[in-house]
Amino acid sequence: MKFQPDNNGYYGQFGGAFIPELLYPNVKELEDNYIQIINSPAFQEEYKDLLKHYVGRPSPLYLAKRLSEKYGATIYLKREDLNHTGAHKVNNTIGQILIAKHLGKTKIIAETGAGQHGVASATVCALMGLECIVFMGETDIKRQAPNVARMKMLGAKVVPATSGSKTLKDATNEAIRYWIQNPDTYYLIGSVVGPHPYPDMVARLQAVISEEMKVQLKEQTGKENPDAIIACVGGGSNAAGAFYHYLDDEEVELIAVEAAGLGVNSGESAATSQLGEVGVIHGSKTILMQDEYGQIVEPYSISAGLDYPGVGPLHAFLHESKRATFMNATDKEALDAAYELTKIEGIIPALETAHALAVLPKMDLSKDKTIVINLSGRGDKDLETYIKHLEG
Ligand SMILES: *Cc1c(COP(=O)(O)O)cnc(C)c1O
Repeated sequence: MKFQPDNNGYYGQFGGAFIPELLYPNVKELEDNYIQIINSPAFQEEYKDLLKHYVGRPSPLYLAKRLSEKYGATIYLKREDLNHTGAHKVNNTIGQILIAKHLGKTKIIAETGAGQHGVASATVCALMGLECIVFMGETDIKRQAPNVARMKMLGAKVVPATSGSKTLKDATNEAIRYWIQNPDTYYLIGSVVGPHPYPDMVARLQAVISEEMKVQLKEQTGKENPDAIIACVGGGSNAAGAFYHYLDDEEVELIAVEAAGLGVNSGESAATSQLGEVGVIHGSKTILMQDEYGQIVEPYSISAGLDYPGVGPLHAFLHESKRATFMNATDKEALDAAYELTKIEGIIPALETAHALAVLPKMDLSKDKTIVINLSGRGDKDLETYIKHLEG
């Protein structure tokens, strides 16, 4: 229970809902209803049915034999890359679209950086026949053309954010602005960030990852608990899902991996836990990268999904309380890890996921240790970057 938020959405000092007064009724409506909706038999039946038949769950827990041999440990991969749309994000969008429907909402807005959450949102809106508007930075629209095309084909309207650096945080600002002006819309947030109850709601929807892990580990090893679970952290939703049912099992080490970009202290990094300080971003008190005036410092990572200046409040608390170990990997280390997994296991991981794989050489491992790595997504979207690296 220690790692559940209190009634105001606080994990220790982190969390809460720092929102303009005009948004209060929306957020309050969600807060008053989300747990009851999620726990209702009607929701559970539809959610589980879609996860099984539409997403393809349970995702396999795969014993990676050659990777295990190489690192001298027993390494399992939780295959979120095999989900429909190619990553864990759809677990959350399926859940939230059902919550939106229960609340009687017909119009959905979402923010996106690389376009992965935009695609996952546009997908479930097509599935449910709901209107979808995705806010995306103008810079990202140019960089992520295939995902923009996917969203459009799925019927979503993609609105460019033209302020600031024209990337994810600016898209989020635009989405919030639109929400204030159109309070009848449902804002579908893509990670364990934002005002309470979003961080807790998204964690509960991604918790299916560790729920399945326990059953699968028990089947394959005779024990539900591994020695360690490794996951990459952008906002922190795949890590929250992979850690969720182990948070109170303190003998299970939880390892969160951030993107170090060109190096933690290079000025081009997204290693929030190392560089960040307490502040408020997108409605939540957490740790974030900021300058002496509290202005957000632009993060950098080769991976668009990890290129965020904050982390969700749960992760800020896991870091402060030392329940989780925070590690990081540079662009180069992640690229090397992606190549290695591809060559020895025949699995091309997403660049985000590659950061989680990249800490294996830095760990103290032994044969009798069981490690689960959350393979958050597949690498199709990153092929261009991988090919460039191969040629460079
Ligand atoms: C978006 C994304 C992430 C980062 O988001 P989290 O909320 O931190 O999980 C990680 N991996 C993949 C494949 C993604 O698409």
